[in-house]
Amino acid sequence: MRAVVFTQYETSPELKEVERPVPGPGEVLLKVAGSGACHSDVALYKEFTEGAPGSIPPGFTLGHEASGWVEEVGPGVQGFTKGDAYLAYGPIGCGHCKACSRGQDTYCENAATMPYLGLGLGRDGGMAEYEVVPARNLVPLGDADPVDAAPLADAGLTPYHAVKHSLPNLAGGGRYALVIGLGGLGQIAVQILTALTGATVIATDMKEDAMRRAEANGAVTVPGGEGQVAAIRELTGGRGVDAAFDFVGATPTIKTAQASMAQGGRLTVVGIANGVTEWSFFTTPYESTITNTYWGTIEDLHEVVAMYRAGQIRPEVERFAMDDALEAYRKLEAGELCGRAVVVP
Ligand code: NAD
Ligand code: ZN
Repeated sequence: MRAVVFTQYETSPELKEVERPVPGPGEVLLKVAGSGACHSDVALYKEFTEGAPGSIPPGFTLGHEASGWVEEVGPGVQGFTKGDAYLAYGPIGCGHCKACSRGQDTYCENAATMPYLGLGLGRDGGMAEYEVVPARNLVPLGDADPVDAAPLADAGLTPYHAVKHSLPNLAGGGRYALVIGLGGLGQIAVQILTALTGATVIATDMKEDAMRRAEANGAVTVPGGEGQVAAIRELTGGRGVDAAFDFVGATPTIKTAQASMAQGGRLTVVGIANGVTEWSFFTTPYESTITNTYWGTIEDLHEVVAMYRAGQIRPEVERFAMDDALEAYRKLEAGELCGRAVVVP
């Protein structure tokens, strides 16, 4: 079968012929329906150097947001029917520590002794014709379109988890949320905020078309550049935003978000551009918080799928054939995509 393999650091991945995997005990083989290309993949193969924080040694198939149909089950697996559609929850922890037992494999207490972080992250992922997934990582899609659903596994789950933790900040009238970076994750973040909160969603990106799409999803937009923080504050009546989500994570975007916060506000940095910022007592709004986040829980993913099936999340997808998978990554790197790139093998 064909697969997009991360072969070496600081190098584009390769579209290669590899062995079709066989499901082991407790595992299911999916015939992949769709596999989303995430900017974190670009960081893995192009930006990180060996040993850098966040880096994972090469030698595996990419793809940590994939969906598919059950093709075959491994020994001991029951309750799955061939042809049923599932979304794969990507993180894989030890499965038995406290964090894993609440479905939060992302923060597995035994992560240091695990051979990989998850599907497409050290272990072969879904950017291929078939993918082996632990049965406990499968979330049923029912009759929902599995190709459009693929981005939910990361571009939906990660913003959902971040927004959920910020809900107390956004509850009540007259609240404001800020979303910076309106790509794969950011567009779905706007949809989730609109569906789950009554807050006014303020959104920004360097790309005009991304801002137009965010407006269609219910946001008001502010252009970047000088005066941006003042424009955001003005929209909030001078108070600042109650929750901010930075899907870029570079020094300038973190600073913009930080400067836009209200007292008691919460800034979640989601983007992994590794920006650096300063903190000082009198320039920080009282009781405001800056935090980061990593993906989400499998319970969150069930809730994301429920929102998708209810029509509250509508991933905007640009489909690519397997032959064009590397072109999907090229367009992602160049910022030329309109919606999430999903490879349909
Ligand atoms: P993407 O390329 O689809 O979108 C990024 C968007 O940010 C683009 O629309 C781009 O125009 C915009 N942008 C870039 N620089 C900007 C700037 N200075 N100001 C305003 N807008 C800017 O990427 P994505 O797949 O949505 O991922 C977004 C980020 O989230 C990446 O850093 C990715 O690695 C990270 N990520 C983090 C997690 C996590 O668990 N924390 C999970 C998935 C992705
Ligand atoms: Zn664990």
